[in-house]
Amino acid sequence: MKRIALIGLPFDEHSSFMRGAAEAPPLIRRALWSGAGNLWSESGIDLGAPGVLYDAGDIEGSPGDAPEKISRAVAGLLEQGFVPVCLGGDHSVTYPIVRSFRRFFPTLAVVDFDAHPDTYDEFQGDRLSHGCPFARIMEAKLADRLIQVGVRADTGELRAQARRFGIRTIEMDDWREDLVLEIDGPVYVSVDMDVLDPACAPGVSHHEPGGCTTRMLLRAIRALRGSIVGADIVEFNPRRDASGITAAACAKILKELAGKMLAAGD
Ligand code: MN
Ligand code: MN
Repeated sequence: MKRIALIGLPFDEHSSFMRGAAEAPPLIRRALWSGAGNLWSESGIDLGAPGVLYDAGDIEGSPGDAPEKISRAVAGLLEQGFVPVCLGGDHSVTYPIVRSFRRFFPTLAVVDFDAHPDTYDEFQGDRLSHGCPFARIMEAKLADRLIQVGVRADTGELRAQARRFGIRTIEMDDWREDLVLEIDGPVYVSVDMDVLDPACAPGVSHHEPGGCTTRMLLRAIRALRGSIVGADIVEFNPRRDASGITAAACAKILKELAGKMLAAGD
């Protein structure tokens, strides 16, 4: 059976609007292990069974060298045969994560659930901004395919980038409950928590109303046809999560992603 490794990414120095995503990892863990719920996925996988979930802890944070540290830590987990699930941080972390995945997977598709395409060439003078990771990933050819689901904050520049990079965009307005993503080969899944409607996940830096429900996202993950080899859950900002519901949503998404990874059986 596959073993999943959780790794916390306490980094938010590439956030453009508000800090706080660096504080996410311990709160996602607390929600996961909370006595308020159990560790079974809806698909019937017991994530609490011995040896299923390994916690690799958090990467030590220091400004500046985060991308290298992230790449190295993720590569280390892949070398050991783990399926890495990265928790917390702003969306800039996905670029160094996928850079490491590419070394292990000659073919790789990326599915990104996000209100935003994050494909700016640069944002506020920062090419590593959380507004840019998918431009870096696509121009470096780190993914063969990129599918972005739930987009509802597009601009003319971002639409041009999607054409340039051959990105498939499923805009929020076109996302139906019965969406089935069919992907051959290994798939990396990135979940930006702002894909959810702010009513379901208020704890994000960029509130973008008109998003999906938690159920729609879970259903899209469960219905995905493909082999998920890794994932991240990013952009959770605990400073805006007064009720704790966004932390709980992160933990729920984590459980269903992990259940999906383990149920694939390959
Ligand atoms: Mn994003
Ligand atoms: Mn976003």
